[in-house]
Amino acid sequence: MRQATVYIDRNALQYNLNRVKQLATNSKIVSMVKANAYGHGIKDCLAALNASDAFGVACLQEGLEIRELGFQQPVTLIEGVFSEDEMPIAIKQKFECVIHHQQQFEWLIKHKQAYINQGLKVWVKLNSGMNRLGFKDPEIIEVIKTLKSEGFTCVLAMHFANADVDHPLNEQQKQQFLQVKQACDPVLASCCNSAAIYKWPELHFDYVRPGIMLYGASPFADQTVHDLDLKPVMTFSAEVIALNHIQTNEHVGYGSTFCAKQAMDIAIVSIGYGDGYPRAYIKQNYVAIDKQLCAVVGRVSMDMIAIDVTGMQVKLGTPVELWGPHRLVDDVADANGTIGYELLCRLSNRPTRKSA
Ligand SMILES: *Cc1c(COP(=O)(O)O)cnc(C)c1O
Repeated sequence: MRQATVYIDRNALQYNLNRVKQLATNSKIVSMVKANAYGHGIKDCLAALNASDAFGVACLQEGLEIRELGFQQPVTLIEGVFSEDEMPIAIKQKFECVIHHQQQFEWLIKHKQAYINQGLKVWVKLNSGMNRLGFKDPEIIEVIKTLKSEGFTCVLAMHFANADVDHPLNEQQKQQFLQVKQACDPVLASCCNSAAIYKWPELHFDYVRPGIMLYGASPFADQTVHDLDLKPVMTFSAEVIALNHIQTNEHVGYGSTFCAKQAMDIAIVSIGYGDGYPRAYIKQNYVAIDKQLCAVVGRVSMDMIAIDVTGMQVKLGTPVELWGPHRLVDDVADANGTIGYELLCRLSNRPTRKSA
């Protein structure tokens, strides 16, 4: 059988969740499990993240999946409902909604009694400069005041555009958030994703919203998961299906883009872009065999890649780690001009899923 496997280490997930707890002792944890738990598979991840105070998802359907799997924790719909007819379903399922525009505000008011009766808080999103979602200041202050007078409990929510780097907008967003929070006092507050959890302990407030750190990938370009004391959750692996010894000036793969400068041993591995392994690259990429890095040579095909195994003890069936503890997904992403988040989320459903 063709071997292409996505293995999920639930202990690593639990370890990473505990890291969030250590870092944000006084905050509730909304574990972000949108996009099928960042491509890790929602089912495997929910059990390991069961000690979370709540789960965060991007839409109603993702929330319903959590309920179908039997998890009863609070769920936050981080973009709210997309149409009014979703509101009664969200309320019935006890999904807390973000509101980020006037129409959602009106839908919420229409369904006010049912919403409040379910004991749900409403998350009100501030657009503090990312210009993606949210009410601006000072409009948001009126929105929150009105909601409070209508009997709602509000969570003031905000998202940083540059939490992963030093950027002048960070301080502006932070100041705006603090100012709005003060103007709406008392109000619950939440503005930290993974990067912000590490960077700004003073902004943890009532709820933190970790995503990528739970999965053991780094939110920062200049810090690895080892630096951050996180454990990679996913190991993406395949195996050697053919071995070729090639001579100087022989080529490998489509387009014959790779030309051997000396005699080499080439192993063909059962993985390709059809599995979600990236084809475009900007730097030399590597895989790991038994902790040792091997260069990917030539173009990535739909079902196969070629790697340089010169001088190594490799045979048919030797396991190859595409990313995992010995070849970090962040490093693969870096070689491919993207971020770990994207590679994790865009795996295809072809690899076999396993967990322990
Ligand atoms: C996805 C998301 C997060 C988590 O971000 P990470 O960088 O993965 O930690 C937090 N908050 C919101 C609103 C999100 O959409």
